[in-house]
Amino acid sequence: MGQLKTVYEELPNEWQLIGGRGLVAKIMNKEVAPGIDPLGAENKLVIAGGPLAGTIAPQLGRISVGGKSPLTLGIKEANAGGPAAQKLDKLGIRAIIVEGIAPEGKFYCLKVSKDEAILVSADEYKGMKNYKLVEELYKKYDRKSAIISIGIGGERGYKSASVSLTDILGDPCRSAGRGGLGAVMGSKGLKAIIIDDSGTPPVDMANKFLFRETVKSWVATLKKDLTCGLLSEFGTPLAVASNSYQGTMPANNYSSGRPEGFQRVTGEVIKQNVWQRGGKMHGCMPGCVVQCSIIYNDANGNRLTSAYEYEGVAMLGTNLGITDLDAIARLKFM
Ligand code: SF4
Repeated sequence: MGQLKTVYEELPNEWQLIGGRGLVAKIMNKEVAPGIDPLGAENKLVIAGGPLAGTIAPQLGRISVGGKSPLTLGIKEANAGGPAAQKLDKLGIRAIIVEGIAPEGKFYCLKVSKDEAILVSADEYKGMKNYKLVEELYKKYDRKSAIISIGIGGERGYKSASVSLTDILGDPCRSAGRGGLGAVMGSKGLKAIIIDDSGTPPVDMANKFLFRETVKSWVATLKKDLTCGLLSEFGTPLAVASNSYQGTMPANNYSSGRPEGFQRVTGEVIKQNVWQRGGKMHGCMPGCVVQCSIIYNDANGNRLTSAYEYEGVAMLGTNLGITDLDAIARLKFM
């Protein structure tokens, strides 16, 4: 970022089969000294997918965002859905490593396509929250692009700032939320990454037939799996009731494990609202066969979010003493 330039490097052979989380660990261990300032020029932000991300194999397209965390001071990896890793793989890119700090406190967008990887000024987007930012970026860039971005918290270096990623609908509702990696992205002066895979061919296979047969059996296994079946019905908020009864659900700033009124925010109540208001379950990325993501509407049938997750209920809800599902969904826009 310091020189505002982009370069391509070959992925070392011995790292070819490592997944996104492993790549984050390998790159950080090799290239970043442990004692550096997490918000300084020597830290690196790594965004990496797995070796099968862009293939037709389902559930392998999640993305890892990593770096030295300003929150824990250790190597942190935060994981998210959405099609970003699938698109990167189609572009032949396993990882983006962001180094240095942009000059003069300015912000930039990185645009990646089959033709180029360029940094462009993000002056006009400074101070925007993720939803507004993505709305504006889609006016300029291909609507099918995946966007990885930060909001105001990331710009200001808040240690809890997340990195947002668009889902299959272009809704920036998927979050790499752990470890304050949004602050690391902000410290670099990187406001957003736009990944446009238009014009790329399908990922090449050494043995297409064998791969297809393997994928078929993998899909059959997923479809028979009981936990996957429950996630398809209730999404990750399925865990709200069981965690509350066990006493492990965050409540009132972690002062209790059984939030008062948790019965109002369980997966079952969300499901009931989805039925009544016209939402549905869907996949956050192409090819997902589990479809645990919840499109949740308000009482008038307008979409509030396309990813109502356990983490949202816990961190924006019960841990703040809030047990109003619509209010929690609206807090995601902050
Ligand atoms: S919708 Fe759920 S199961 Fe499907 S890819 Fe996204 S996070 Fe995974």
